[in-house]
Amino acid sequence: MSLAKSLICRECSRTYDLAALYFCDWCFGPLEVTYDYETIAAGITREGIADGPPTLWRYSELLPVDSGDAVDLGAGLTPLTRADRLAREIGLGEVWVKNDTLNPTNSFKDRPVTVALTKAVELGLSTVACASTGNLANSVAAHAAHAGLRSHVFVPGDIEPSKIVATAALGNVVRVDGSYDDVNRLCSQLVDEYPWGIVNVNLRPYYAEGSKTIAFETVEQLGWRLPDHVVVPVASGALLTKIAKGFEELIRVGLVDDTNNVRISGAQAAGCSPVATAFEEGADDIRPQKPSTIAKSLAIGDPADGLYALDVVRKSGGVVASVSDIEIIEAISLLAATEGILTEPAGGVTVATLVKLAREGVISRDERVVVYVTGHGLKTPEVIPVAPRPPIRASVDGFNETYGTEV
Ligand SMILES: *Cc1c(COP(=O)(O)O)cnc(C)c1O
Ligand SMILES: [Zn+2]
Repeated sequence: MSLAKSLICRECSRTYDLAALYFCDWCFGPLEVTYDYETIAAGITREGIADGPPTLWRYSELLPVDSGDAVDLGAGLTPLTRADRLAREIGLGEVWVKNDTLNPTNSFKDRPVTVALTKAVELGLSTVACASTGNLANSVAAHAAHAGLRSHVFVPGDIEPSKIVATAALGNVVRVDGSYDDVNRLCSQLVDEYPWGIVNVNLRPYYAEGSKTIAFETVEQLGWRLPDHVVVPVASGALLTKIAKGFEELIRVGLVDDTNNVRISGAQAAGCSPVATAFEEGADDIRPQKPSTIAKSLAIGDPADGLYALDVVRKSGGVVASVSDIEIIEAISLLAATEGILTEPAGGVTVATLVKLAREGVISRDERVVVYVTGHGLKTPEVIPVAPRPPIRASVDGFNETYGTEV
């Protein structure tokens, strides 16, 4: 049984039933899920979690749906890898990479989607949809197919071809002439037209809850210790705000003893950096931007959770920084060469931001740092900075002619 209690308005704290609602009737603020934390605290244990499934459903007490009927392709419990070679290269002490490229559809989006579609089934919906920069579409189409739901996934016309191909094999991909922000606006209109569960519109409170499991896993995999500093990619800002909620909830239900403040830093591409710009200017509002970057999965010019993300970062003592496309590509190569992990540009944004913050002394050597690498490099082969050399003759001589000087 889920111990979710109600939806609560993030602005005025009015509460609502756990239905397909996403904004407050009273003040139009966004809604989020709240739980009966006392009952959870009385029952939840580290051992109980360790005995649970090897997926994010091991934390079902802190999720807003019943796990018995989960729409589950195995999302979550991805590796947390100690990255000593990367750390040495950039002058840091203890760095960990949370490798969320290894989710069922190779991005962190499988976390929110498994939760959102489980809620869709619980609500009796037969069709689901989403507004996506690419990875969400892939994940919604896959989970919908698995659950026997119809899906329509909406993406900007210019996303990476390989992402469209992977998704079109699974469901109906609707390419829209426009940016993500146009796609999102369209989906906010379609939700009034059709009886759909649009995962990041009317199912958004449930969807967003799935993201916090990456924080739960981080802490469990560190031996139930909090990190000192985390670096998080920012598109809408939902992942960043939910990571903060995840750490808070673990403290609240008594699963961690240390209550040290976790510094939370955000990472954006310079070509789409509305939150980083507001941070740098010390502004209290976010000016929308028109994205132009290779980090297309982070290309949201008008981020729904941007202000909340800004607030979380400021309160935690972190920063939001941005990096150029060249730095993103260099960081993809650096992560591949030092740790053997191939990421799409979003992970390049995060690692490049880590490098930058290390160089500027914002992150210090004595901090235990976790970086979130959220999408697989094979999703965007066009940006991988290597060109294969021509084949050689199948002989030792053939090898020596071309590569002899390199061995
Ligand atoms: C969607 C996405 C994010 C961040 O998403 P938010 O909208 O900020 O929650 C990060 N990395 C990848 C690869 C993504 O697809
Ligand atoms: Zn309200």
